Amino acid sequence: MIIAIDGPAASGKSTVARAVARRLGFRYLDTGAMYRAVAAEAVRLGMPLEDAALMTTLAETTSVRFSYAEGDPIPAGVLVGSRDVTTEIRTPAVDAAVSLVARIPGVRHAMVPQQREFALGSDIVVEGRDIGTVVFPDAAVKVYLTATPEERARRRFGDREAAGHEAEIAAVAADIAHRDRIDSTRAASPLATADDAHVIDTTGLTVDAVVELIAALAAEVGA
Ligand code: C5P
Repeated sequence: MIIAIDGPAASGKSTVARAVARRLGFRYLDTGAMYRAVAAEAVRLGMPLEDAALMTTLAETTSVRFSYAEGDPIPAGVLVGSRDVTTEIRTPAVDAAVSLVARIPGVRHAMVPQQREFALGSDIVVEGRDIGTVVFPDAAVKVYLTATPEERARRRFGDREAAGHEAEIAAVAADIAHRDRIDSTRAASPLATADDAHVIDTTGLTVDAVVELIAALAAEVGA
């Protein structure tokens, strides 16, 4: 069974998706981490992000893998080749670059088959922007998570502080809005709510409450 969780930046997808996977004993795939890994390579190598052919080649040739702690099916980190990029893919520089790279059709074309292959034949929670619409349109459960822009800015600001980065809440809010605008207006697989997705506004809800809601939806279809 596939549980697809889509939604805008900082809507709580990763926290919720991981918790749902743990609760149900499912695997977990963070597709945003894959786009972030390609963007991090482009930033590291000083490549022009608007060069679609170059970004496509980079996506086709960058080996993105997940690392695991012993005995835990939920990935602990992200690798590009043998380099650990777990922290690097969450920096402000990669935040600013990733939507520009992810909007390039060739980049998506390189990533989506890898996402389908990763999930093949397993019970898995997959999170991203186009999971219920494009990557797994037949997913058994589709959820679209959202929250008010203020709440999302507060959450991302908290993440930034916890990671020891300097941040201002107004700048964080502007970054989120900018990324959402690019993600939802791009021609290739834009951020959108699938017709059959359950929309959950997480503003004011605890993580546990959202996990309960999604577990109940999964139980309805037999998980
Ligand atoms: O989920 P996260 O915020 O880490 O995703 C980072 C970026 O990767 C998004 O802003 C979007 O540009 C891109 N992305 C995407 N399609 C996905 C997942 C992420 O375009 N399925």
